[in-house]
Amino acid sequence: MPYQNFFLSCLLVLLQTSISQQEEQSQLLLVSFDGFRWDYVNRVPTPNFRDLMNEGVQVEKVENTYITKTYPNHYTLVTGLHAETHGVIANEMYDPIHNKSFSMEGPSVYDAWWWEEAVPLWVTNQKAGKKSGAAMWPGSDVAIGGTYPTHYLSYNASMPFETRVEKLIDWFSGPEAINFGVLYWEEPDESGHNLGPESPLMDPVIADIDDKLGFLREKLKAAGLYDKLNLIVTSDHGMTQLSHDKIIELDTYVSRDLYTWVDKSPVVGILPKEGKLEEVYSSLKNANPNMVVYKKEEIPEHYHYRHNARIMPLIIEVKEGWTVMQNRNGSFMLGNHGYNNSLPSMHPVFVARGPTFRREYTKASMRTVDLYPLMCSILGLKPLPNNGSLSSVQDLLVETPTSKPEVLLTPRQSSYAWAVGSILGTALVIGFLFIFVQQVTQRQLPPLHLSNSEITQPLL
Ligand SMILES: [Zn+2]
Repeated sequence: MPYQNFFLSCLLVLLQTSISQQEEQSQLLLVSFDGFRWDYVNRVPTPNFRDLMNEGVQVEKVENTYITKTYPNHYTLVTGLHAETHGVIANEMYDPIHNKSFSMEGPSVYDAWWWEEAVPLWVTNQKAGKKSGAAMWPGSDVAIGGTYPTHYLSYNASMPFETRVEKLIDWFSGPEAINFGVLYWEEPDESGHNLGPESPLMDPVIADIDDKLGFLREKLKAAGLYDKLNLIVTSDHGMTQLSHDKIIELDTYVSRDLYTWVDKSPVVGILPKEGKLEEVYSSLKNANPNMVVYKKEEIPEHYHYRHNARIMPLIIEVKEGWTVMQNRNGSFMLGNHGYNNSLPSMHPVFVARGPTFRREYTKASMRTVDLYPLMCSILGLKPLPNNGSLSSVQDLLVETPTSKPEVLLTPRQSSYAWAVGSILGTALVIGFLFIFVQQVTQRQLPPLHLSNSEITQPLL
């Protein structure tokens, strides 16, 4: 029958529309240029950063988390948790309960146990049935909770930026596309350490990062992704200039036989030998005006750096620009980070653009912990408990998340609600069409039949 074919066609169109709506999910790429200080964009012409600011949003002051080191802050960016809560409290760690050590330069990086006090966003995204891709982000080549990103690259510092970008573009394209990607690049951190951030030699390094951002933009445009995808460009921390005149030698104040040194300057974990805590503490307490020594319980609450077994019984924090070493035989760098997160020199850059972000909007300040709930909102995911606040950064977005109720649903509820809604909607439309077509076909029946029924019925 012709109208049955018509129903089938309607049904197919409805199903195809529903499927394409489901596939039309927000895409998000988070990029970190390690050690890109917030004000580097003002040092040399940075046309690509400028374009992103004009096309999207810029945040002038971004407060990262204590300590302002690479591993703690990269994990904060993808968990919304301060270091004491996500557990990656330093680049070098010791866990006294389990007698285990972690070093960012050793195989312990791949021991998932260090990462499993939190769940990174790529895992949450995948648990919601979506796909993630990671290019060298710290921790992204570790099976955290038994799960790797859907696509990832094993860490290889020598893989060029361009290759990492091309991998991500592939993952963001095609029918099996990811909706969330993370991209990491080692510069300008490495040059900042070696040259010092105030060196004029840093200018071409910063210009090169802008060129790399330009390469990413061009590749996104060529793939037809530039206007579909939300792009966030930020960093883990800034960088400050050091000086040979600003070195504190711990051996001057306390015997190294009394403690174990954990992590490096400018915030050092000190593990006193059994029964030696008070002796070490009193030796260091007023030893040098350019360093502060805290017993663990004295660490200011607003540092969010106390409640974790991996934080040592004593920590030393030195003033900006100072270096703490056991003696001068240790290696010395001209630039460093890790200092107090209230210092402007420690703050990272932040720019973002895409369909979800406002245009030409400058925000005065945010905290990096707020980025996680913001990204969850963009991806339509329910955030896990975190230290951030979506309402603090909601003004960066075009649309308020309250207009997207599915954000508050669990992934299972969300897909269930979608399925029920689709079935009910389809059934209603088919029912309506059935009645409509029935009416039309009845009116087109032969006049004799119609008149018969009209005549016979009143006679019953
Ligand atoms: Zn870093």
